[in-house]
Amino acid sequence: MYQQNTINFDGDDLVPSKIVCVGRNYLAHIEELGNSVPSEPVIFVKPNSAIGAELFSELQETLHYEAELCFLIQGGSIAGVGVGLDLTKRDLQTTLREQGLPWERAKAFDHSAVFSNFVRLSNAIENLSIRLSINGQLVQHGTIDLMINKPQALLSNIAEFMTLADNDILMTGTPKGVGTVQSGQVFTCEVFDGGTSIVSKTWTAQ
Ligand code: ZN
Repeated sequence: MYQQNTINFDGDDLVPSKIVCVGRNYLAHIEELGNSVPSEPVIFVKPNSAIGAELFSELQETLHYEAELCFLIQGGSIAGVGVGLDLTKRDLQTTLREQGLPWERAKAFDHSAVFSNFVRLSNAIENLSIRLSINGQLVQHGTIDLMINKPQALLSNIAEFMTLADNDILMTGTPKGVGTVQSGQVFTCEVFDGGTSIVSKTWTAQ
């Protein structure tokens, strides 16, 4: 029997029906992958079944990490913040894209999303940022300022065609510095509000 996957928000286990993801939302990341700047947000969805507890380095092929600032949505608005990894089968994604095919096989597989806990937001979101360190080395750093489409604009854009149910998650895209996950590496993701760390999560890649 299928057990719905949960995320933790201020101590409660909640069931997101889906994760809405944004592609190409940071210029420097668009450049590192050699993509073009989209005229409107690139949106794709991961189902509840994509949420994993462990970080895998390989599932049929090597996985790439994308650290992303994530928001928990309630009542159509941002209720909480956390950080997650959008795991991607990059080779497969490239093949699918070249053939004009959907990305689900490369982006929506089981264990393709892992998350920290989520915490309630007490301040405005403008000063939020994320950091990803691998084995203690900073590899990704993202701020709201660097986003092409800011979170509120993303919510409005998504609302034009898709309902965000309570406890759904918005992943806001990845800054530059993506790469492959290797077994044994220690990944530490952190959310900062200004200079203060408000959430962190560590995984050791399997
Ligand atoms: Zn992503």
